[in-house]
Amino acid sequence: MQKYHIYGIETNLLKRLNRAFYFSPKNIPLSLCMENNLNRTELESLGEFGLIDQLTKDIQVYNKSTVLGIGDDAALIKNGNLLTVISTDILVEGIHFNLAYVPLKHLGYKAVIVNLSDIYAMNASPKQITVSLAVSNRFSVEALEELYAGIHLACKAHAVDLVGGDTTTSAGGLFISITAIGTVEEGMQVLRSGANESDLIVVSGDLGGAYLGLQILEREQEVFKTNQNIQPDLDGHDYILQRQLRPEARKDIIEILKLLEIKPTSMIDISDGLASEITHLCKKSKVGCNIYDEKIPIDPSVINTAEDFNLDPSMCALNGGEDYELLFTIAQSDFEKIKGNPHLTVIGHITDEASGINLITRDGNSYEIKSQGWNAFGNKSE
Ligand code: ADP
Ligand code: MG
Repeated sequence: MQKYHIYGIETNLLKRLNRAFYFSPKNIPLSLCMENNLNRTELESLGEFGLIDQLTKDIQVYNKSTVLGIGDDAALIKNGNLLTVISTDILVEGIHFNLAYVPLKHLGYKAVIVNLSDIYAMNASPKQITVSLAVSNRFSVEALEELYAGIHLACKAHAVDLVGGDTTTSAGGLFISITAIGTVEEGMQVLRSGANESDLIVVSGDLGGAYLGLQILEREQEVFKTNQNIQPDLDGHDYILQRQLRPEARKDIIEILKLLEIKPTSMIDISDGLASEITHLCKKSKVGCNIYDEKIPIDPSVINTAEDFNLDPSMCALNGGEDYELLFTIAQSDFEKIKGNPHLTVIGHITDEASGINLITRDGNSYEIKSQGWNAFGNKSE
């Protein structure tokens, strides 16, 4: 039998699709009507990273210029002696931000920063961004101008040009998708996969603050819901609120490393918590690690607030996320160059893969790190 192709789809398949359309039960989107419901796999059974692996495992690379595709903080594309670095992130209202307590200007700033952080994590410099919005008619022009004021501020702070995007309506809520484009000299890129046994593990800044800032905001929102005459009590929490609402991407660390003539062996940015990121780094590099609990840099205000919430500060650093610090590994021979640097802390070292990914506690016990970082589908998985 002769087969016809319409837009590359075999007509038999089109017939099947049509049949499915005619018989699709009322109100159930066609795309959710599986031919065989027994084969349905729930998203939470895979988790965010399992789903990405599942959807992308058979991807073919057709262009020689694609130096690095899926699986790192950003993709790398050859462009003469430079590599173009590309990363994209989407922020969804109600999932990534709550407009009850996040000012739109801060949201615009943060939406850019989370993308630039991925570019720096490749040891690259961001140059351009595109901004795509899906927005419901709940928002006024003035509200969106506020959002853009934050976007412009972040562009200015990092000397990045806004070169395009897309705008459409959404049935509900605000969606912001930003793509960041950067460059790095070929040979200077740093991947997640380059860590070697005995390398030192280094983290910039301090961890856990953004998570505790969120706890404060959520607590005050609950109080406000019960009595709208009570104004939020945010006094004394400036640092952690700033960590949550106005994070910064560590451009300065990339500059310091360049000045110190250090090329990390591997690097990742900390968006989902130290536990999740060290797990990505070790798995990609096929190594293990020992991280020392007492070495994890934590600000005193984070320790105090964690105690107020009955939380362990180290757990906030390990599983909290959104700190946008850099986690990287260096050869031991580079240790003297970073020793005493107030921005950088050595928190452990790389071991062989068989030794596993471990946290060494203050009393000398060793526990396997199970990453419980934020997960897109609600379950806590690797
Ligand atoms: P990060 O936390 O650094 O932003 P992610 O965990 O979001 O990184 O993504 C890990 C890798 O998976 C990246 O290379 C990203 O480009 C890729 N990725 C994520 N979602 C998709 C998707 N839907 N299709 C293809 N690649 C994806
Ligand atoms: Mg990242």
